[in-house]
Amino acid sequence: MYWELEKMKWARSHPEIYTQAFEESKRYCKLCNEPAYEDYMLKDELWLAHFNNLELVHLQCFEKNLGRPLEADDFSPAPINNNIRWALTRN
Ligand SMILES: [Zn+2]
Repeated sequence: MYWELEKMKWARSHPEIYTQAFEESKRYCKLCNEPAYEDYMLKDELWLAHFNNLELVHLQCFEKNLGRPLEADDFSPAPINNNIRWALTRN
C-alpha cells in the first residue's frame, strides 16, 4: 500500500514471509514492473482485495486495475494521504 514505515512494521511482525525478495522487489510496481516511489495508503479492505501488504503499485496502475477512478474515501486517514485527500475533495 504503501507507506514504507507501515510496510516495514508489518513485515517485521510477519518474519515468515519477510524475505530478501521483499527487499529487492519492493520498489517496483507489481503491475507494470516499472520503478515506483509512490507513498500513499488505501483502506485495507480495498488494497487487500487486490494486493498484499508487501506489494507496491502505482496509483494510476491501481486505478486501471480497479476499473474506476479512486476517490478520497478510498484512502486511509493516514497523514501521508493528506495532500491526496485534499486534492480529491476540493471543488
Ligand atoms: Zn505501475
